[in-house]
Amino acid sequence: MRLLVRCASVGLLLLAGVHPAAAALKVVATTEDLATIAQEIGGDKVAVETMARGYQDPHFVEPKPSFILKLHAADLLVLVGRELEIGWLPPLIQQSRNANIQPGARGYMDASLTVKILEIPTGQITRAMGDVHPQGNPHYWLDPDNGKSIAKEIADKLAELRPGDAALFSQRQAAFASRLDDAKKRWLAAMQPYKGVKVVTYHRSFPNFAERFVLDVVGYVEPRPGIPPSPQHTLDLINDMKRQGVKIVLVEPYFDLKTPNAIGRETGAQVLVLPPSVGGEKEVPDYFALFDYDINLLVGALKQIGAPAK
Ligand SMILES: [Zn+2]
Repeated sequence: MRLLVRCASVGLLLLAGVHPAAAALKVVATTEDLATIAQEIGGDKVAVETMARGYQDPHFVEPKPSFILKLHAADLLVLVGRELEIGWLPPLIQQSRNANIQPGARGYMDASLTVKILEIPTGQITRAMGDVHPQGNPHYWLDPDNGKSIAKEIADKLAELRPGDAALFSQRQAAFASRLDDAKKRWLAAMQPYKGVKVVTYHRSFPNFAERFVLDVVGYVEPRPGIPPSPQHTLDLINDMKRQGVKIVLVEPYFDLKTPNAIGRETGAQVLVLPPSVGGEKEVPDYFALFDYDINLLVGALKQIGAPAK
């Protein structure tokens, strides 16, 4: 019976002039940032699904049975890598029972291999010490140049999996890169007057963003990446911010605002909820909107503050 139904649907596809092999490639991305880039490159040749939402902490995502179903059906898995997803992804890949997307298989793509990675530890750092960035900073997508590298990797991988559409993927990738170059000029111009402004961030989510747009990140609400604030660290941070005249605290949408707000009250700094990911706020549906939103918010606050603390 099942076979009959299958034959019938194949027949229908053939009648419609669509070969079944040309069905959209099923891509699963661990984050909305990677998903939106994969969609830009793949167009209607891909069907993209996401696991972590942009308003969730990507280090700590609750694994859901639906993730296993998505992975089971996937032709390609795109992940951030650098151990960002190590706390939740590996068992899901295993449970998917999909040979195509196991580490090392053709359908497994670690997006961190050609991008610029910052904060690579020089000494011995392990997760046993509580640090969730033992392989360098995994929040690298917040530099448009890294976005371009990710897009290139995805285009190459899609072409490998679907050689017949290679020219299309390459064309879409070139168009994406060129739009990104234009947008980057606009973003750099908007941030230009505030070059070198000192900020504090909750988690170390913004080093690539800070490097690209020349912000000086002088401290963090977390004592170490992944470790919640402690009273002593918060006190030290407040004193540091007062000494250096820091007037901006950036907080990712998934962190409790209690400590940042207390720091804001003590130092007179503005606390801004700055999404590090697509989907982090409803106004951020894609990769371009992410920079538009974050830079708008920052520039608005910096204008209010007046002369930047440098
Ligand atoms: Zn992190």
